[in-house]
Amino acid sequence: TEEMGIISGALEMKTKTVKDIMTPLDDIFMLPVEASFDFDILTEIECRGYTRIPIYEGVRANVVAIINVKQLTLVDLKVAAPVKSLVDFYKTDLFFVFENEKLDFMFRSFREGSRGHMAFVQKLNDEGPGDPRYETIGLVTMEDVLEELLQAEIYDE
Ligand code: ADP
Repeated sequence: TEEMGIISGALEMKTKTVKDIMTPLDDIFMLPVEASFDFDILTEIECRGYTRIPIYEGVRANVVAIINVKQLTLVDLKVAAPVKSLVDFYKTDLFFVFENEKLDFMFRSFREGSRGHMAFVQKLNDEGPGDPRYETIGLVTMEDVLEELLQAEIYDE
């Protein structure tokens, strides 16, 4: 029944982690900071249909900003604005969480809202020489958490 689904979903919120439900790095539609919003990129953004586009510097695991598609209404199609200029203009605070963070924490954080509704999942990489460093391995949004809570797909209208 629907009630049973919600109850088991609620219980799993205490045991499941963000890593279990995240969209993995390889599946994230993101752009490098040195790109420009030229016609091809704007067309691809439009086709993908995501609201938020993470921006990375160097490697994809190094997310430095989020661009919201609403911010692109200011972009002048004739000059192919550099991604960097938008990133600097709309300084965003990124929300990072550790990969083993539980979904009930995630739900409360998203609901509280001050850090936005998208979080980047990080793990500590201590392989190889040099200092251990955090790297991004995926993202979660409020929608991912709600889906888990309701144990059912939520379809965008
Ligand atoms: P949107 O508002 O763009 O539809 P949602 O927050 O509703 O995004 O999330 C819908 C699904 O898409 C979730 O599974 C989320 O992890 C994933 N998602 C959100 N943004 C991106 C992106 N830029 N690239 C890949 N997946 C994304």
